[in-house]
Amino acid sequence: MTSESPATPIAAPDGTHPSACPICGTTGGREILTARDHRRGTPGEFRVVECTSCRLARTDPWPDDPGAWYPDEYPQHGDQPSLTARASGAALRRAARPGARRLGRILGRAVPEADTGGPVAPRSRILDVGAGTGTAVAAFRAAGHDAWGVEPSLRAVVVAEGRGTEGVVAGSLDDALDNELIPAGPYDVIRMSQVLEHVADPIALLQRLRSIIAPTGRLIVGVPNLDSVARKVTGSAWDGLELPRHLLHYTRESLLWVLSLGGFHVTSMRTAPLLGVLPGSIDARTAGGDRQRGWSDALPVRVALYPVEWALGAAGQGDGIVAIAEPAGP
Ligand SMILES: [Zn+2]
Repeated sequence: MTSESPATPIAAPDGTHPSACPICGTTGGREILTARDHRRGTPGEFRVVECTSCRLARTDPWPDDPGAWYPDEYPQHGDQPSLTARASGAALRRAARPGARRLGRILGRAVPEADTGGPVAPRSRILDVGAGTGTAVAAFRAAGHDAWGVEPSLRAVVVAEGRGTEGVVAGSLDDALDNELIPAGPYDVIRMSQVLEHVADPIALLQRLRSIIAPTGRLIVGVPNLDSVARKVTGSAWDGLELPRHLLHYTRESLLWVLSLGGFHVTSMRTAPLLGVLPGSIDARTAGGDRQRGWSDALPVRVALYPVEWALGAAGQGDGIVAIAEPAGP
């Protein structure tokens, strides 16, 4: 293991400490970029540092309490369904129907949030980790599956309950399993969309999932793609950074490695669009990389740029990565 001084130290905002790689413990590393929170305006600057030992990129400095950086109005937790949530819910309700093989594949390509990684057998047991307001759980339940979700935001779970969605439990996966709030398994399908980048110890989380997934089960993981062409072009303004709430920043290589350390064998991996990241990045870039002006949230803008995002994803340059994995070994 190596330990080097950061190239350009930055003033650590309150409530942070110098980071170490959560996988291998290495401190320091190669600075990829320095950026501000152009979405929410968290004070201070944050760097994305690539571990010199294992190449996993992380946020530096690291929060003392990662939960403290989530504003109350975090949009994924609100009661107004986002465009992504509405589109993925509608697509998942169709893709998750037993027998929807071809349709499911098409929908999964068009809307990565609706990717089930293959056909879903009737009455499958499904877990959505980071279930948000329960869009996917509701869609799977409507298709006749035994679907459950865990979600750290109590506010999001209250919204799910308000919509009549059952099976979404507030708290961590460990809490939900240890307190028997969700079935102990085995799960046929585990979905974890835009979650792993928020998690401080991804190996521990994956190993827990490995212990509850069925031997023939599959895990669907979606994360932002630090190697996307939009990230390279827009740099610190790239909207997939979501600093400082994203603690880790994955490439295909580092995601593959983290999944394998967590006990999973990747059967397919592709880049995919992440709705709104391209306009959000342009918004921040043209605002000087500081706070977005907000025009990129407008529905017509997002819809207009989605074909571009989709084409980049199909060309291996998308802002997201979708990996399908199965439990490795015995
Ligand atoms: Zn490392």
